[in-house]
Amino acid sequence: MSNGFAVQDRFAEGAQYIGGKLLPGTSGRHHDIVNPATGASVLRYELAGTDDVDAAVAAARAAFPGWSAATPGERSEAMHRFAAVLAEQADDFAYAESLQCGKPLKLSTEFDVPGTVDNAAFFAGAARHLEGKAAAEYDSDHTSYVRREAIGVVGSIAPWNYPLQMAAWKILPAVAAGNTIVLKPAELTPLTSLMFAQAATEAGIPDGVINIITGAGKEAGEHLVGHPDVVMTSFTGSTAVGKRVAEVATATVKRLHLELGGKAPFVVFDDADLEAAVHGAVAGSLINTGQDCTAATRAYVQRPLYDAFVRDVAALMETVRLGDPFAATTDLGPLISHAQRDRVAAFVERARGYARVVTGGEAPGGELADGAYYRPTLIADAAQDSEVVQSEIFGPVLVVLPFDTDDEGIALANDTPYGLAASAWTRDLYRANRATREIQAGCVWVNDHIPILSEMPHGGYKASGFGKDMSAYSFEEYTQVKHVMYDNTAVARKDWHRTIFGDR
Ligand code: NAD
Repeated sequence: MSNGFAVQDRFAEGAQYIGGKLLPGTSGRHHDIVNPATGASVLRYELAGTDDVDAAVAAARAAFPGWSAATPGERSEAMHRFAAVLAEQADDFAYAESLQCGKPLKLSTEFDVPGTVDNAAFFAGAARHLEGKAAAEYDSDHTSYVRREAIGVVGSIAPWNYPLQMAAWKILPAVAAGNTIVLKPAELTPLTSLMFAQAATEAGIPDGVINIITGAGKEAGEHLVGHPDVVMTSFTGSTAVGKRVAEVATATVKRLHLELGGKAPFVVFDDADLEAAVHGAVAGSLINTGQDCTAATRAYVQRPLYDAFVRDVAALMETVRLGDPFAATTDLGPLISHAQRDRVAAFVERARGYARVVTGGEAPGGELADGAYYRPTLIADAAQDSEVVQSEIFGPVLVVLPFDTDDEGIALANDTPYGLAASAWTRDLYRANRATREIQAGCVWVNDHIPILSEMPHGGYKASGFGKDMSAYSFEEYTQVKHVMYDNTAVARKDWHRTIFGDR
């Protein structure tokens, strides 16, 4: 399926976007973007080396004085145009996102692209709310106020699971606040980040404000994080890489924002609407083929509903249709790569030694044999401290465990190193209220699991990181506050000078 734009032609000049132009990388090493549904190469490009990172940072640095000096209204206007260009190109974005990720076109079309357009519109509005706190005389000799200012060049690093949305979440708040940015998408999925930056140029956002470098994590990524001219690192990815990023960023004393892994619990109390919980568990665990940091991964079900929940989730999972991402009948695409599929399969194979695979647990054959597909999988009878319950699998795998008391359900939900998202399923207001209070996660849904909003913050507790994406909280993180203090006395000898001059 093609929507009319040929990827090879579109990126013939290269897969780096620096100073408003597509350029080739200079690392001497090449990478194939592979369509995970077929295994076929989509585009071969030269990866960024450290020289390309330096050039992108220099372009962002050169653009900073002009962009940060633009009025909030001017930045807002440019970003409203940007949102409009993104909306006009929605079909191209959805096509490219599905091609490089293998996600069903209905997901790209209904979730990734409109979410991105809405984010752009939100941050276009936020740009005009760059506000400090009230001015006042906090002592009678001085007037104080707080200025909120842009920070400088931001270096961001994104993962492959939602490349377009991750680019949007990193770029939009930074740029709305007057910063300039260099983003490194994952090597596997750079297409829509490059298109995003091109759309910004079309909308009139000046060259150098948004730069994309596409290179390997160890080389281009670490060079960006350690770059002395980059003042803030905003990273989304695994907790393991996040720890390394923190080490490198600390050496140059950067502001740090880490959005890391998750292992979201899905807690079903015995008064829950079983049908709703079953549908929520299947959709919430399989969204984006389970490659979602907030996906439902651990279902804890109170004993009276447990057997029915296991039976009904397995039955519903078996109705989910794997297939060509561009077919309207496809519910679930492949994983991002064959390597990721094999990693997921290895988790399940190890689990067979200590738990029960209720459904799934295999790659489909036939027409789908060349793609990185894996069947929706439900695992029961695993111990709380086992690998499938504790580690992020990042695939279409849900683990289900029973619990007896409410105390136990909440304690089990909190019993992993992660704290990104969670959900509680109940019709009892007091139970719901308790779960939302006591579950340690950056987001707790009640009777749903997955929806996000541009206005609301997304980010972790515990080993899921710190800092927020989206919302006014994220906008603030890309700013710094300055205390400005005026003397009101106009005298040479201030009162406090007594501490130096004594009674002279
Ligand atoms: P990853 O950590 O392997 O890679 C993320 C990015 O970091 C990539 O661009 C990669 O090239 C880069 N990178 C790798 N090594 C690096 C290094 N040494 N220095 C600098 N950059 C380096 O993650 P992934 O496999 O691309 O994505 C999946 C992970 O992302 C999962 O753990 C998932 O939970 C997480 N994630 C979190 C959120 C969130 O909001 N918390 C959102 C999406 C994904």
